[in-house]
Amino acid sequence: MKVIKFGGSSLASGKQIEKVFRIVMSDPERKVVVVSAPGKRFPDDQKVTDLLIECAELCLQNNNPKAKVDAIIARYSAIAEELSLADEIISEITEDLSRRLNSDRTKPERFMDCVKASGEDNHAKLVAAYFQSQGVDANYVNPGEAGLLVSDEPGNAQVLPESYDRLFALRKREGILIFPGFFGYSEEGEVFTFSRSGSDITGSILANGLKADLYENFTDVDAVYSVNPFIVERPKEIKELTYREMRELSYAGFTVLHDEALVPAFRAGIPVQIKNTNNPTAPGTKIVYERDNTNGPVIGIASDQGFCSIYVSKYLMNREIGFGRKLLSILEDYGLSYEHTPSGIDDVSVILRENQLDLEMENEIKWRIESELHADEVKVEHSLALIMVVGEGMRRNVGTMARASKALAKAKVNIEMINQGSSEVSMMFGVKEVDEKKAVNALYEEFFAAVTA
Ligand code: ASP
Repeated sequence: MKVIKFGGSSLASGKQIEKVFRIVMSDPERKVVVVSAPGKRFPDDQKVTDLLIECAELCLQNNNPKAKVDAIIARYSAIAEELSLADEIISEITEDLSRRLNSDRTKPERFMDCVKASGEDNHAKLVAAYFQSQGVDANYVNPGEAGLLVSDEPGNAQVLPESYDRLFALRKREGILIFPGFFGYSEEGEVFTFSRSGSDITGSILANGLKADLYENFTDVDAVYSVNPFIVERPKEIKELTYREMRELSYAGFTVLHDEALVPAFRAGIPVQIKNTNNPTAPGTKIVYERDNTNGPVIGIASDQGFCSIYVSKYLMNREIGFGRKLLSILEDYGLSYEHTPSGIDDVSVILRENQLDLEMENEIKWRIESELHADEVKVEHSLALIMVVGEGMRRNVGTMARASKALAKAKVNIEMINQGSSEVSMMFGVKEVDEKKAVNALYEEFFAAVTA
């Protein structure tokens, strides 16, 4: 039995939904279909989820959302018309949206989640209606009724562990189950969404709960590439990689799969297959527990911008018990989460996503570190990019770090910091954002282009 998830671009039009139908019907093992809200049809198009967010914001500011509501309904109507569906589905969607927009606004973030989740919820109903119109036994499943329970964190919900056992009961249901992605219900019965692109997470949770043999994730690229194709032209495709490698890569800019989507499938030992809705015969990329073919030390290079580092130095820091804890607890006071902490004997840098702090907070933090921890120097450096060089093969290969830093030196990229994950699956290089592309190209050249030439 397989759980199969389709992303927004795979469900953006009637034509795309016809492709989805053919893919699902071509394999009787495909039992649970997880759907996203309609995504972009062309590069400048708007995702329905983005329209819903704008719509909810207008309501919260007491402005009239009519133009946005019309645009959302127009998206569903165009799809329904293309698929020759009866008018009822559009009336149902219109009523549902208006009920949500008129619901309680006293907790704005919950109101936002309730409106946002309608994108997937209503699309699942529409997709189910289309399957039924084709004579297939397919039914919409409500995540609350199915037992997908989540924490009450708006826009960032986490699955509650008891969900898995409850979801197992879905196996007994007849026919194909069309399940909306992106949200679940709190214990109090309220809707909460995962973070953006979270339908991937729903698919993984269902694969785990239903003990599926495979979690197929259909998107709009043929495979996971070894590097961002917007930085390096026609990069090598990755045929197979491990959960750990994918987690490292998707954390640092590989957007093919949500970085939180792997854990549920991984815990149940279910492989994940990435495939292309627009080219379903391409083999795609398989994410597995262990892989045999090492193909050299590096499998992929990811990079992401928007980081800053708080550099702290203090003579004899190595001998001061509790320094690290005190430093991190200052950051905790401001609700900041950090990504890495490369350190030396007398210094440590804490790397954070810089959109978390403004200038006032930054100055306060600097002042507290200086005065409370008696640091000799505190510096905040902005506009950093992190580059992750990832591969299980690094554990067995000597000299990968030397090759990487030599390649960066040759490209005249100054390395601001280096960190090697303790798992030895990844190496992190911090560089100035302006150097990101140059650095990624140099590393790709070193680990991939030279090998295949
Ligand atoms: N529609 C949601 C988003 O755009 C979730 C998803 O597509 O996975 O973030």
